[in-house]
Amino acid sequence: MKTTAPRREGGGPRRRALVTGASAGIGLAFAERLARDQYDLVLVARSRDRLEEIAKRLREERGAGVEVLAADLTQAAALRAVEEVVADDATLDLLVNNAGFGTQGRFAELDIDREEEEIRLNVVALVRLTRAALPHMIQRGRGEIVNVSSMAGFYPGPFLATYGATKAFVTSFTESLAEELRETGVRVQALCPGFTRTEFQERASIDTSQIPGFAWMSAEEVVEASLDGLSRDELVVVPGNLNRALRAGASLLPRSIVRRAMAAASRRLEE
Ligand code: NAP
Repeated sequence: MKTTAPRREGGGPRRRALVTGASAGIGLAFAERLARDQYDLVLVARSRDRLEEIAKRLREERGAGVEVLAADLTQAAALRAVEEVVADDATLDLLVNNAGFGTQGRFAELDIDREEEEIRLNVVALVRLTRAALPHMIQRGRGEIVNVSSMAGFYPGPFLATYGATKAFVTSFTESLAEELRETGVRVQALCPGFTRTEFQERASIDTSQIPGFAWMSAEEVVEASLDGLSRDELVVVPGNLNRALRAGASLLPRSIVRRAMAAASRRLEE
């Protein structure tokens, strides 16, 4: 579904962004904020109904041009279809690789097909969409890619082993790309939120009752930190003072202590 973006009197040229996982949580907050900031949008997630409803609202309230792509990015054919849209779009200014989920539990007991899906979504889809977007961005000498990682990528994550490893991949991959893209005009960012109030914890069967209120951020605050980071050319963005302090503190401790502390914390979050 395609709509033509209305130009606003006195406004600058509209920009164009594709957001994965735009039906909920951080992706939805990105879509809302970008529509407010004069972006036209391509919204990707599995739930077509939710995306259509969001698209309708953003067209009416923000005058944004919004397209909806319902796709399960763990499925090769659906991912290819989205890749083609990205690769064919010479006007894409911003790609937000946000769709992701986590699994919790003892790895030896987890459903291995679900673990593989987690790697397909959090890693494979992100890598393939990044690869699809880059040629046009490099040719134009501008463009931005936000890869949504996590604080979980900074530490070993016992009982969240696959999730933590996917996010370590995302941060490392993005840091390496930034260096490769130096001088091209294309900027990349690894966005590393901590606890953020979304549907994530429920989908991962994480018991949030043990997590103190002050540890949480809203999806809107996370998006704000990301966009501020882009404007300052910040490569690894950790939203919130508490998360930045935790990251700094953990980096001073021996890895074996961090591993045990993370294991103890994860056990307490199991439902
Ligand atoms: P969320 O509220 O559960 O939203 C996840 C989004 O991803 C939804 O739009 C979901 O839509 C989409 N999605 C899930 N599976 C998909 C699939 N197979 N194909 C396409 N889209 C899919 O979670 P969130 O917290 O906003 O998570 C967004 C990102 O932030 C993730 O990468 C997550 O790892 C990261 N993160 C979250 C937190 C946190 O505490 N919330 C902390 C650090 C990092 P459909 O169900 O409609 O497909």
